[in-house]
Amino acid sequence: ERGRLARLKNTPSVTLDGQKVELLVNIEQPEDTVGALAVGAVGVGLFRSEFLFMGREGRLPDEEEQYQAYRQAVEGMNGMPVTIRTVDVGADKPLDSRHDAAHLNPALGLRAIRWSLSEPAMFLSQLRAILRASAYGQVHLLIPMLAHANEIRQTLELIEKAREQLDKRGQAYGPMKIGAMIEVPAAAMSLPLFLRYFDFLSIGTNDLIQYTLAIDRADESVAHLYDQLHPAVLRLIANTIAAGQANGRPVSVCGEMAGDPTMTRLLLGLGLRSFSMHPSQILSVKQEILRADAGKLEAWAQAVLDSEEPAALLLE
Ligand code: PEP
Ligand code: MG
Repeated sequence: ERGRLARLKNTPSVTLDGQKVELLVNIEQPEDTVGALAVGAVGVGLFRSEFLFMGREGRLPDEEEQYQAYRQAVEGMNGMPVTIRTVDVGADKPLDSRHDAAHLNPALGLRAIRWSLSEPAMFLSQLRAILRASAYGQVHLLIPMLAHANEIRQTLELIEKAREQLDKRGQAYGPMKIGAMIEVPAAAMSLPLFLRYFDFLSIGTNDLIQYTLAIDRADESVAHLYDQLHPAVLRLIANTIAAGQANGRPVSVCGEMAGDPTMTRLLLGLGLRSFSMHPSQILSVKQEILRADAGKLEAWAQAVLDSEEPAALLLE
């Protein structure tokens, strides 16, 4: 099986009916681009930059250190797109031993973009580092956990400010598409707002499931209720993909669902054409894509959406 899959590395990722599907990787460190190329990924859909920040007990990476790391990732991908997500610490990814200790409910607390906006100097240094790396390749910027119009505007203002700071220093940066994670149900229900401000969307199913179902993704005692096929979850995903399509804006899925081959046909049927996942999943998902007829899956996917027991339909 492994040998057979390995041979798919250079096979274009196209469905039986000729639909091209983009297969991207999720990475945590710049060196991970080596593994991305080894499985034939066409870009990085999610660079979880928080891994540069975690476990350092207060000594955060400065602009220069981050710039080197982002640039390494960008150069490692040889011109293919690299989507860098701004720092997403908190909850299941504590910054250090102190960060979340004072919060009763860290998943609902000062995490991700909320933390970044509360630390503007830190955030600006990250934005400058990412912008500087964009001079060396195709960088896309991705913002986690947004829900409010006000957060969106503040974030975009800070990005503009970071550009101005680099202009003043005479430091180069390239054009950079800016996208939002759709991972809070409020965001998935405010799509016109997100489409007004962003070039692309990326669905974070891990958090979207957690927040839609009120299930702590890190709590084993409720893991049996963490249901990626819950009709409410599927509806939010379907709506996001459809809204992106209707507005000509790319939508990707970068949560675990994208790397689960049992979900590939459903996501294709819902119209998804961009998947980002752990490198180890790329070839299994590609195999599903090569066997799928995306057009025929559309009506079936709508039936799954309307079903009370979607899992049963998925096995058909
Ligand atoms: C997600 O929430 O689905 C996601 C991709 O981000 P993370 O798992 O890093 O929270
Ligand atoms: Mg998330």
